[in-house]
Amino acid sequence: MSMQRLSILGSTGSIGTSTLDVAARHPDRFRVFALTAHRQIDRLFEQCRTFLPEVAVVGDAEGAAELTQRLRTARLSTEVAYGPQALSAVASAPGCDTVVAAIVGAAGLASSLAAARAGKKILLANKEALVMSGALFMRTVAEHGATLLPLDSEHNAIFQCLGTGACRSAGVGVERLILTASGGPFLHRELASLDDVTPDQACKHPNWVMGRKISVDSATMMNKGLEVIEARWLFDMPPGRIEVLIHPQSVIHSMVAFADQSVLAQLGNPDMRTPIAHAMAHPERVDSGVAPLDLTRMAELSFRAPDLARFPCLRLGLQVLRDGCAASVTLNAANEVAVDAFLHEQIRFTDIARVVEQTLDRLPALAASAQLDDILAADELARVTSRQIMAQLPARRAVAKAIH
Ligand code: NAD
Ligand code: MG
Repeated sequence: MSMQRLSILGSTGSIGTSTLDVAARHPDRFRVFALTAHRQIDRLFEQCRTFLPEVAVVGDAEGAAELTQRLRTARLSTEVAYGPQALSAVASAPGCDTVVAAIVGAAGLASSLAAARAGKKILLANKEALVMSGALFMRTVAEHGATLLPLDSEHNAIFQCLGTGACRSAGVGVERLILTASGGPFLHRELASLDDVTPDQACKHPNWVMGRKISVDSATMMNKGLEVIEARWLFDMPPGRIEVLIHPQSVIHSMVAFADQSVLAQLGNPDMRTPIAHAMAHPERVDSGVAPLDLTRMAELSFRAPDLARFPCLRLGLQVLRDGCAASVTLNAANEVAVDAFLHEQIRFTDIARVVEQTLDRLPALAASAQLDDILAADELARVTSRQIMAQLPARRAVAKAIH
């Protein structure tokens, strides 16, 4: 067992915080090389005090000046940098072995790719990066001898069930991947009332505590739409062999069905520290701090097919998967824009699917040979287009007034 030096990109977020929690339990195995945050300077400063990284990266010069001043006052020598290039620099620095890619959204793409190009061990939470750049990302990982380990609980479960010790699914008789989904907070809510749900209601997930963007994605089930695409690339699995199953208790995190009809499942309490600890220690196992699973206290484990009329965002994700993922950049970008607008109460919850679908309808799909520049251009075009589409929708406040 050798010491792993970690760059944790997005260390102040939900995944970043859980990663530090696991790292702190094993000071003999993990040392922090770099921590990064966008705007949460207070939180990042506290993390620097506890974990003494060599480098800390923030979003802009102002934040960097503030953090530097606080670090110096506290007599800490952590070096401070800012901006996207600094993120890519800590992701590829010789001083780090393992990169935890836990930035949310397209903002994490460049640094995740930089880690792949540098041949790092990458613990990937940032599913949007893989959804955007699937073929390119997997090619980069292979060409540079990087190691990719999924943190997303479903993909981590599938990784464990495959039993190949890698994301490789070939040669072990896999028939299909079954991704479980809780169904989020609105699984049973009356459909007509979805128009009026608030951001706080959408972010109140029954089983998991997560950042606000992925919480809304879980409520619309776009999260599962992104995850089927993530699974397609991670495990090189044809679209027709990836399924989604609603399992409201979130105890089975996903399953793999094999040719002989054996189905293997990975179980655990819904706490991200389990997949995080799995990936951090792989191929060994370490304590994650998660409570033991007590199945005698589970009244039931239930399963059902998803209702695509209730979850149009999942329908769109599955459609993009079926069509070969060429529209996945558009799907992701339109969703990021729409979710942000919903969180700022500019559009309704039910407008999210509307904006994504109309953006998909308007824009051409990307060629399979797309390079990073093509991907970034398609991302930008989808953002502009979805904003234009949103401008045609009645503003949320105006809608609320019209109702009363
Ligand atoms: P979060 O919002 O809690 O944290 C996001 C982190 O990214 C923060 O540290 C923030 O400072 C940083 N960040 C945000 N915008 C940035 C930008 N423009 N530039 C640089 N840094 C930026 O999010 P989260 O819930 O931890 O999710 C992180 C990623 O992990 C997402 O891609 C999400 O889909 C994935 N994921 C999360 C969970 C979970 O349980 N939270 C589970 C599976 C996958
Ligand atoms: Mg997940």
